[in-house]
Amino acid sequence: MSRYKCKICGYIYDDDKENIKFIDLQENFNCLSCTAPISLFEEIENEVEEFSKDELDNAIKISKDNISIERLVEKCINCGMCMNICKEKQGIKDICMGRACINCGQCIQVCPTGALIPKRDKDNLKKAKEDGKILIAYTSPSVRVALGDEFGLEKGEFVQGKLISSLRKIGFDYVLDVTFGADLTIMEEANELVRRINSNEKLPMFTSCCPAWIKYAEMFYPEILSYISTCKSPIGMMGEIVKNYFTMKNNIDKNKVFTVAITPCTAKKYEVARDEIGGTDLVITTRELADILKEENIDFKSLQDSNYDSLLSEGTGSGMIFGNTGGVMEASLREAYYILTGKNLEKTKLEFNSVRGMDNVKEASIKINNIKLNVAVIHKMSSAIPILEEVKNGTSKYHYIEIMNCEGGCIGGGGQPKIINGKEIEVKQKRIQALYNRDKSNKFRFSHENPDVIMVYNEFLGSPLSKKSEGLLHTKYEDKSHLIDSYLLVVK
Ligand code: SF4
Ligand code: SF4
Ligand code: SF4
Repeated sequence: MSRYKCKICGYIYDDDKENIKFIDLQENFNCLSCTAPISLFEEIENEVEEFSKDELDNAIKISKDNISIERLVEKCINCGMCMNICKEKQGIKDICMGRACINCGQCIQVCPTGALIPKRDKDNLKKAKEDGKILIAYTSPSVRVALGDEFGLEKGEFVQGKLISSLRKIGFDYVLDVTFGADLTIMEEANELVRRINSNEKLPMFTSCCPAWIKYAEMFYPEILSYISTCKSPIGMMGEIVKNYFTMKNNIDKNKVFTVAITPCTAKKYEVARDEIGGTDLVITTRELADILKEENIDFKSLQDSNYDSLLSEGTGSGMIFGNTGGVMEASLREAYYILTGKNLEKTKLEFNSVRGMDNVKEASIKINNIKLNVAVIHKMSSAIPILEEVKNGTSKYHYIEIMNCEGGCIGGGGQPKIINGKEIEVKQKRIQALYNRDKSNKFRFSHENPDVIMVYNEFLGSPLSKKSEGLLHTKYEDKSHLIDSYLLVVK
């Protein structure tokens, strides 16, 4: 089986699916997707995956080069719970393993024996410290409402101050807030949405901040990639701004900096390793951080609160709710309203209750000026399949769709503390509510009001969707359907 990929658009010419073999094509052949000449195609190697020899029938197969999760075979009891969630909730159909993995870590959350764990990256952090690097951490919104679970605090307790202190204790020189990156994402994404609405092109637009969803689309729905917002995720944007702006403002040699995203998400380990995403050197999940703190005997409960470092510090309420299902949608709609009308939404209309809550698919119609926007919010990948089919077939009624892989959004990420005793919904709702409370009490609730965001645009980026913003903060996607074949090659 030979496959050739267009270096321009990612289109795959697969000898097995075509009547003419690639090597027999005429010189004037052009890419069937973007019309690039045949000289811009390259052969893709058929890599064969490696699995442990001791695999059990009911367990998912984790490729040895999986960057996000690992399986301790000796702890596996062959219960099949991982396989079940991967098929039923993540929608990985009948091939739930190997490189077709979307790195979401939901199998970790259900494994009863701890045989599945996030890939442990703490040694890389230790090495950076030993090498004398300047360590910069940035923390995602949902880490601060879950880390306390690991230390016996109330479920959903908002431990932002202790989280910052704990990072300083383990050696970070600067601690910043990804909520700033979320605000920047909203600025770029809301402007992109308005641009697409005004030109009536490539609608519905999908959100892009969940790397598990992006990989799912690249593998199973490559036809709809141009409908996904080109915005990098908050961590993707954060990394670029820290390396290219924060270091400049603080007179730091960026080559001496080591950036670490503290996240709820195992898929972020995969995301930051993508060629198109720069800036972040390492991803540590909430659970890994808890393990590091326990190993270093840090008494988390008794830590004094600390504040983020100024410049790229705390974000707005809009950025904070990114951790919840519906949060990206709500924050972007607040901003789109401002862009289209020139004024902020009234306080009483700020909270879009129709996109909140734990239903896996939520719909709403929003009127801004004379424009009626149909929106949908989905969490849990398999729930997205009917809507993805509609978009593929050109029959979708929506203008804007948020997709997050994990149930509840990032507060339920694969790298978060496990929820036991069947209290999943209850605990997730507490985490969700804690972020909404923080939005409500925030002095700033619109991303364009974030003083750091204003400063970064004034001093560095210019404006949303400027040439510089497009270059640093936006990305592209590629057809990865060959990853499915790479697994099928193994099982055949
Ligand atoms: S990380 Fe997600 S996609 Fe990969 S095996 Fe686990 S549940 Fe399936
Ligand atoms: S859930 Fe854990 S114990 Fe059960 S089959 Fe999967 S890896 Fe093994
Ligand atoms: S929903 Fe959030 S935590 Fe889950 S995979 Fe997506 S980005 Fe990661």
